[in-house]
Amino acid sequence: MIIKNSEFLGSFQYEKQCPTTGLPEFAFIGRSNVGKSSLINMICDKKGLAKVSQSPGKTQTLNFFTIDESWFLVDLPGYGYARASKVLRAGFGRMITEYFTKRNATLKCAFVLIDGMLPPQKIDLEFATFLGENSVPFAFVFTKTDRVKPLELKRNIQAFEKKILENFEVMPNYFITSAEKKFGKEDIFDFMETLLPSQNAKRKI
Ligand code: GDP
Repeated sequence: MIIKNSEFLGSFQYEKQCPTTGLPEFAFIGRSNVGKSSLINMICDKKGLAKVSQSPGKTQTLNFFTIDESWFLVDLPGYGYARASKVLRAGFGRMITEYFTKRNATLKCAFVLIDGMLPPQKIDLEFATFLGENSVPFAFVFTKTDRVKPLELKRNIQAFEKKILENFEVMPNYFITSAEKKFGKEDIFDFMETLLPSQNAKRKI
């Protein structure tokens, strides 16, 4: 898969404001500063499409991008931002819960970004459990993997998998990426492709 055209469509505060065109969508979410904007820019091959933030946790909206007029990439706010006010966190919680519980008709997969430099983080494990409990299809994306030695990355992933298997029967699909080294997007594309309608099917519509 190659992305030819990616365009910002809009930012929405509530699930009910989100597009109703029925196009399939893929969501990206993770802790603030996990490297989400950098990953999205790498995937779309467009610098500055998603803003690489200097002040983490700023985005508190559901940001939609139209990709090749055939699917949406949804940039969700970062979670676990210690400096966000309690009010914002409450609002954030509602927005995210609504998004994940009401977009199931179009949401093909949520990519949950995990910082490859860190050992398992409680908040990521809790978030995965939340998705599992709500039957949201998801996969993990390990980010910033250029910053750790291969053995350390392997250890981090193994420790993460072990924690996940305390709550899940199998480890969900996962991808290893580095926005810095432009590594890992082909694997994500191949996976996305299996979830999108085929070109032939699209032509028939
Ligand atoms: P977000 O808050 O999750 O959107 O994270 P950003 O994309 O803004 O990235 C947070 C910081 O991590 C920035 O300083 C990025 O330059 C850095 N970063 C993001 N991805 C990578 C990566 O793959 N490798 C390295 N070395 N740094 C990265």
